[in-house]
Amino acid sequence: MTSYDIAVIGLGLIGSAALRHLSLSFPNLRLCGIGPDEPSDRKTHQGVFASHYDQGRITRVLDPSQLCGELARESIARYADIEAASGLQFHHRSGCLRATDIEERIAEVDACARRYNPPHQRLDAAGCKAVYPFLSFSDDFVAWDEKGEAGYINPRSLIAAQLRVAGANGAEINREIVSAIDDDGDGLTIRTREGGLLRARKLLLAAGGYSNTLLDRKLALAAKGHTILLAEVPPDEIKRLRAMPSIISRFEDPSVASLYMLPPVPYPDGKTYIKLGPSGRPQELPAPEPTFDAVKDDGQLLDWFHSDGREDIAEAMRAALHRKIPDLKTQSHHSAPCLITNSAHGNPYIDALEDGRIYLATAGNGYAAKSSDEIGRIGAMFCATGEWHSGLDRADFRAVYADGGSK
Ligand SMILES: Cc1cc2nc3c(=O)[nH]c(=O)nc-3n(C[C@H](O)[C@H](O)[C@H](O)COP(=O)(O)OP(=O)(O)OC[C@H]3O[C@@H](n4cnc5c(N)ncnc54)[C@H](O)[C@@H]3O)c2cc1C
Repeated sequence: MTSYDIAVIGLGLIGSAALRHLSLSFPNLRLCGIGPDEPSDRKTHQGVFASHYDQGRITRVLDPSQLCGELARESIARYADIEAASGLQFHHRSGCLRATDIEERIAEVDACARRYNPPHQRLDAAGCKAVYPFLSFSDDFVAWDEKGEAGYINPRSLIAAQLRVAGANGAEINREIVSAIDDDGDGLTIRTREGGLLRARKLLLAAGGYSNTLLDRKLALAAKGHTILLAEVPPDEIKRLRAMPSIISRFEDPSVASLYMLPPVPYPDGKTYIKLGPSGRPQELPAPEPTFDAVKDDGQLLDWFHSDGREDIAEAMRAALHRKIPDLKTQSHHSAPCLITNSAHGNPYIDALEDGRIYLATAGNGYAAKSSDEIGRIGAMFCATGEWHSGLDRADFRAVYADGGSK
């Protein structure tokens, strides 16, 4: 049986980042990343799924949460290095426009802007109209037009880049699905669904919405269904909207509350889509999508991932898109399911579940793609050294269990 110093379970955005950081910082450790690649056919796939099967995730620093701003800033600062080391491009500087009329959010984002001051300008609705004449905003909206590194990343390419670098630095990649973890006091035995067996001194669990399936004591980890709409745009519209930024905006209609939207992005089917979905804090979202609390087995999520998401939300998104870009011409629309993994406190869980043995880096809360490199780095360093290598407060990342307790 092959033995490793550290195994990273889950090769999504956070796990792949953690594996790269481990491979760079600890070249003498024997490392293995375990987790399947994207399914070839979502509708018939019987294994696990993930939150990264897409071409676009918004990236930007400005956020109502300073902690999110900091995680993003640290991660974004390393994008260019990851691209250079891997030879893969994943970062697109389209800019990001964040707009709201909620007083509390305005104050929070202003505080983030003062603290991190990424290249941006603050606009009122008239200013937005002047810069982006194809977009519609209410008169009482305030917007931050973030430039510089803001825009979007391709999550598939980011993961490929992280794994390419980790592999080149000696980390092994195992494409199986972990089915059980046993701690015999001397180390960990990791079993895979495919019949594989390996040993590790320590592990970092980064299995996203599936993390609970591998833990006896379940975490307070709500895996929430999330419906996206993909609106196909024709070539003349792609040209007209070439200055379109990524957008995160409160929406005038309470049935939508808030949405995010990417500029036209090419997809593997040869078409170009504007992707959008509902955004905001869980309590601000309209009619809740299905929530899978403390997912016990992956069967709970199969029906969701085999579906096309919630039809009513897709329809609300479609109406919202055509109100935000009133003259938009589209060729087709379709929806798809995704998963957002929420922690109890709204920050990722980065913690030791068993000191010196089992560590955790998960719960992206719908915003971790852009920040996955820093979340993965903090988790990797904690797992390898037992020490907290971040200026952010460790207490903010404590794992909370479903029974209400912490470790
Ligand atoms: C539609 C949508 C839009 C989003 N938009 C944005 C955005 O614009 N900006 C942003 O920053 N964030 C965004 N997010 C959030 C972001 O995608 C997630 O926070 C991020 O993917 C979380 O990373 P993760 O590594 O924790 O989980 P995942 O990316 O889901 O990765 C988990 C990995 O674990 C693997 N796994 C599961 N079970 C097992 C097992 N038993 N054994 C081995 N491996 C296993 C899976 O295969 C998967 O690869 C969005 C999310 C969704 C769903």
